[in-house]
Amino acid sequence: MEVKVNKGTLSLVQGDITQEETEAIVNAANSRLAGGAGVDGAIHRAGGPSIMDECRQIGGCPTGQAVITTAGKLKARYVIHTVGPVYRGGGRGEANLLRSAYAESLKLASLRKLKSVAFPAISTGVYSYPLGEAARIALKTAVEYLRSHEDIELIRFVLFDRGTYEVFVEELRKIL
Ligand code: ADP
Repeated sequence: MEVKVNKGTLSLVQGDITQEETEAIVNAANSRLAGGAGVDGAIHRAGGPSIMDECRQIGGCPTGQAVITTAGKLKARYVIHTVGPVYRGGGRGEANLLRSAYAESLKLASLRKLKSVAFPAISTGVYSYPLGEAARIALKTAVEYLRSHEDIELIRFVLFDRGTYEVFVEELRKIL
């Protein structure tokens, strides 16, 4: 699914983010930038060790913030590593932290003058964020960015499985 928002494009696809050709892909990292399971492991495996070398130099990233490295062997030029919240019931600021993870990633992409960014469904795997609510926050943050800025031309969500893709499509229809 693809929609125009202001001057930009918001795109939803099912797929593997390590194969994306956007200028930056976003990693759902942990605060130590230590690598791990899920999309984080897949990005480091596909991109090679130079990404982890840069992560070690940076040292860490607080929840809700983002840092940027080059992308090793990936097709993308940069990896933006952001840290979403672990979901612990919703009363611990999770929604604001998840919104911030998306917004800070877009801010970094903008600072680097990048035109296209791909996101996974941050916090919805090991970090257990309820999928519908996480999708709504992700999409609202992206739509608001495109409505209020004209620098980033393409924001793409790359959803790993069919079910996640369908929930994102449903939530996007509600927002628009
Ligand atoms: P978190 O710790 O933030 O929850 P996970 O990596 O466990 O991060 O999961 C986030 C989402 O990324 C999940 O929907 C998972 O299915 C998805 N995912 C896993 N591997 C990939 C991949 N190669 N490309 C895109 N999404 C992926």
